[in-house]
Amino acid sequence: MALLQISEPGQSTKPHEHKFAIGIDLGTTNSLVASVRSGKADTLSDVDGKHLLPSVVRYSADSIVVGLAAKENQVKDPHNTISSIKRLMGRGVEDLKAQFKSLSDELPYEFAEGDSVVPRIKTAAGNKTAVEISADILKVLKLRGEETLGDELEGAVITVPAYFDDAQRQATKDAATLAGINVLRLLNEPTAAAVAYGLDSGAEGIVAVYDLGGGTFDISIMQLKQGVFEVLSTGGDSALGGDDFDHAIAQWILEQAGVDSSELSSSSLRLVLQEACSAKEALSEHTETEIKIDFSADKNWTGILNREILNTLIDPLIKKTLMSCRRALRDADVDKEQVIDVVMVGGSTRALRVREQVGEFFETEPKVDIDPDRVVAIGAAIQANALVGNDAEGNLLLMDVLPLSLGLETMGGLAEKIISRNTPIPVSRAQEFTTYKDGQTAMAVHVVQGERDLVDDCRSLAKFELRGFPSHVAGAARIRVTFQVDADGLLSVSAKEETSGIEASVEVKPSYGLQDSEIEAMLKASMEFAANDKDARSLREQQVEADRVLEAIDSAMADDGEEMLSAEEREAILQVRQELEISRHNATEAQQLKDAMSKLEKVSAEYVARRMNASVQKSMAGHQVEEFK
Ligand code: ADP
Ligand code: MG
Repeated sequence: MALLQISEPGQSTKPHEHKFAIGIDLGTTNSLVASVRSGKADTLSDVDGKHLLPSVVRYSADSIVVGLAAKENQVKDPHNTISSIKRLMGRGVEDLKAQFKSLSDELPYEFAEGDSVVPRIKTAAGNKTAVEISADILKVLKLRGEETLGDELEGAVITVPAYFDDAQRQATKDAATLAGINVLRLLNEPTAAAVAYGLDSGAEGIVAVYDLGGGTFDISIMQLKQGVFEVLSTGGDSALGGDDFDHAIAQWILEQAGVDSSELSSSSLRLVLQEACSAKEALSEHTETEIKIDFSADKNWTGILNREILNTLIDPLIKKTLMSCRRALRDADVDKEQVIDVVMVGGSTRALRVREQVGEFFETEPKVDIDPDRVVAIGAAIQANALVGNDAEGNLLLMDVLPLSLGLETMGGLAEKIISRNTPIPVSRAQEFTTYKDGQTAMAVHVVQGERDLVDDCRSLAKFELRGFPSHVAGAARIRVTFQVDADGLLSVSAKEETSGIEASVEVKPSYGLQDSEIEAMLKASMEFAANDKDARSLREQQVEADRVLEAIDSAMADDGEEMLSAEEREAILQVRQELEISRHNATEAQQLKDAMSKLEKVSAEYVARRMNASVQKSMAGHQVEEFK
């Protein structure tokens, strides 16, 4: 029986005032979760002490595996093992066709046919959207947070790239909802990194955040003014990262070994890439490293890679990132000298050559004190902690800005901006429009996002109609359109004809986002599964308990059942014991087993009491009563 826990007199049993919140970096390659504990922000590890969770999910008919175990099966099970899903967030089938020249070449998955605008990847566990796959990653991080903090979470701050548009932000939020996470706020990744370094409470000025991850490079030029981080410009390369370093090194290995890559099987090639990656990572600690590769039974190669060679291999790639930096500075209309801090983010900025070159370019020592893998999650945790009200020092709550301008389509396919990019959020703006034809009683409202003047060059967010307003001559109707953006950068739009008071509004659901009904259905399904899972678990627990009880009663009966029980008593106990054994194998619900066990407990209560007395007497036999006082 479990001991009841009773608190010491005077000790408070009142729950702690502290509220638990986490920060999540949902990365393309790796994801992390962090929290503020005892005033210190840090990332949380899994049971093996690992902080980084590879953003890889493997689906099979009866299980979902996330992280390293999934990643290790990527070569073996490519169709069901999904990686880099972040690239597909908030993207429609049409978007993907434009983004990837050949879907099957660059994304080794099968897409389900159908009329849905949201791409669905076929897996052994059914068709999955990017939102669902991301939700599976988020669930693991949430659980890690709950297990480490030992309590229900109040919510989470989730980071997104600064250039993410409304659809991509909405998709991220949907994924969090699906994972059962209360999103306190979406935060731009470079902003989070700057927060981790406390730059929000330091000097005002221009900060560059250089983020080189596994497959992407992002540069953000930001200006901090009165607690608001304004993103002056973003740039980068969505297909340049540490993976390219690995490819360059692998190429070198093959040249040295005299092996033609076309002769290699895909798993040998994978092996060479893995060795290249390990060597690269080792060289940020050591000046040289040995590489050994068994290409086949009769062909192996051993060689030394040192920092000089590594530098010549990766320099052209680093140069490319610096060209993006130069462009971003130009877009922001900022000189290199004006940049007061350069924050390094992403695993690939561990490479010493990257630090060296970036430092040289900006003519300042880049900030690397906080682990570049963890810095974004740490900044998110600091914001989360402040948002739930734990920050006793009352640090300024940081504001983000709108990443892309929002506007409406006007005559001639032109985009009229209502709120321009970099406006601090939340924000609400209204503008009046009028009709262009005599007798016009309806008006189509087309909401677009982007910086370009032509609607065709912007992203279409939503369309709705305002109907039934009184007929006016052209130019006399007054239609007021209000845009409202919440703290996550998500938009709702309403329109009102002022003379008649007729109103229409939409909560903007990005054109390629999921419908509310779809999200609801997914949520329901995941809750149903959760309920099933819970039932199955408690049945299993009671079965284990029943086994234990059966074993205990059998061993007691074998011990002293003959001497301590009359024949009838024995018969009665054995009868109920038999019932429990049958239940143990047939019960489909935990309660049935509980009932059978409590029946056995009742019928054997007297026997248990007699045994206890006997055992007490036995242990006292031969001793003086005084000894026990
Ligand atoms: P993402 O933001 O895309 O999720 P990360 O920031 O986690 O990616 O970076 C992953 C990349 O960092 C990988 O290419 C990995 O090889 C690289 N990396 C990790 N450690 C080192 C190191 N010590 N030296 C060089 N590169 C490293
Ligand atoms: Mg990252």
